[in-house]
Amino acid sequence: MLVVRLVLSLQVNILSFLRALLLPAVMLPLKEKDKPIIRKLLAAGCCARCVLRFCCVTDQAAYQQPQQETLRELQAFVEDAANSKAPDSPPPNSTDKQESHDVTGPEDPPSKKAKLNLNESAAQTDAAADDGVELKDLHVCVVCFGILQDFCDTLQAAKIAEAVKVQDYEFSSLTLSVSLPAQLCVRQHSCWLHMKNEIRQKGMLLDKSDVVQVKEAFKWIIQGLVARELGGVAVVTKSMFEVSMEFTHTETESDCHFLQATCPDCFTATKNKQSVFTRMSVVKAVEKISDATFLRHYPCPPKPPTSRCICQDVQCLHMSVFVAGRYNKFCRSLPQTPWLIDGERRMESSVEELIAVPIVSAFRADGFNFSSSGREDVDVRTLGNGRPFALELLNPHRSRLSKEEMKLLQETINTSSDKIRVRDLQMVSREAMSRMKEGEEEKTKSYTALVWTQRPIQKEDLSFIDDIKDLTLDQKTPLRVLHRRALAIRQRVIHNMNARFLDSHHFYLGLKTQAGTYIKEFVHGDFGRTKPNLCQLLKTDTDIVELDVESVDVDWPPAIPE
Ligand code: ZN
Repeated sequence: MLVVRLVLSLQVNILSFLRALLLPAVMLPLKEKDKPIIRKLLAAGCCARCVLRFCCVTDQAAYQQPQQETLRELQAFVEDAANSKAPDSPPPNSTDKQESHDVTGPEDPPSKKAKLNLNESAAQTDAAADDGVELKDLHVCVVCFGILQDFCDTLQAAKIAEAVKVQDYEFSSLTLSVSLPAQLCVRQHSCWLHMKNEIRQKGMLLDKSDVVQVKEAFKWIIQGLVARELGGVAVVTKSMFEVSMEFTHTETESDCHFLQATCPDCFTATKNKQSVFTRMSVVKAVEKISDATFLRHYPCPPKPPTSRCICQDVQCLHMSVFVAGRYNKFCRSLPQTPWLIDGERRMESSVEELIAVPIVSAFRADGFNFSSSGREDVDVRTLGNGRPFALELLNPHRSRLSKEEMKLLQETINTSSDKIRVRDLQMVSREAMSRMKEGEEEKTKSYTALVWTQRPIQKEDLSFIDDIKDLTLDQKTPLRVLHRRALAIRQRVIHNMNARFLDSHHFYLGLKTQAGTYIKEFVHGDFGRTKPNLCQLLKTDTDIVELDVESVDVDWPPAIPE
């Protein structure tokens, strides 16, 4: 068994292996003055690992060894103190006498307490440990509800690993996140108060914050085991891939209820939470109320529970990954995003869907958010180098594609439809993505508009247009977007223009403008809401027949050589 344990330790961590060699199992890092605390906590119904926590043991190996072994060692340790007068054992006063009588009093063992059942071989080799100590090992721990007793062994690790495997994610590291019942804080505090007196008497420099948290101890034990079950994947504190488990314990949920009466302002109803007793609010309340108030409303030590807690389903979540590129739109009947009116589809597809569907499927994501550097109307084409866009992929089961695979994905999109085309498709960081949005207003865009004039024109009538530079427009929010945009007057600059005569009623107008300029409104005037406008400049009614975006001058994402 020792061999098995050493081999396991070696696989998990060479350091803990060495520690196991250097520190024989009986050498828990405990001090003589811990003894009364250990006795007190064991008698109160704390499990062996919770006792280590309250003794502020931070040696991970101490938690990683089988709990039965830890219990046996604790038992031998306090037994030793009871049989031989340790040099620093306290002078017997009435309180201490009472306590040691409760726990280990050999002449009058309390009959209700379960006698510790060690396995036979252990009992034979370590007879002293099995001699006359009454412990509550068989009970569910009063503080952790069994989390550190029954939920952190190889079997549990295998269950977690299996649940992760079934969900079929690709990952190289993971973060384990654990959610514990809120009432655990109440019980932890009650046990702390239970041992506080002892600490004061011994003049120990211990603070409540030195106590190791259940969550921390749980992770110390389970992380290595889960890592091994998943074939050596790194379990780290910050990974893109999070595996979360939640423990619940319905039997003791009412433990928190007294806090609401004694500390009402710590519990405010929130819309999203099912219960006001969140872990945060309970911690806050426990810190706030006085020890005396706490002890008036809650037993110290806590009442032993009759059932273990329940581990809910293991949930996996991968943080978003981002894909960016540039798109062309060659079609005058394709909206950028799905066009729905009263829940009914108006157009069969959209730029967003044509791009996103193959990408979402390649990354096996649960969903996506599409964003782009500006947008074009349904009847406007986007030519040239195209418009930068980015896609946030939600909970992707695959988080990385090679350059080759990205190229293939781009081809898949491009062959699936002749209405759009993408280029420079690549993975980007969340931070890089914000570059697309920032400074968008300062960027320039180039357009070509096919313009109709009411009055017949000649080539010469248009020549003045080429000379106009940096024309500032006052644009009142266009009528067509007034339903979704606040009414305002925005100033936009047309940097330059050029005109190409087509026939006596038509010409092509090229424009280079500040981003955000409403081109259609500049051409037809929008009932005078845009000033100056092309009607004023040409002294005739003009209208826009066709519009193309020629370039969006945002130098992101970086171009990828074909
Ligand atoms: Zn416990």
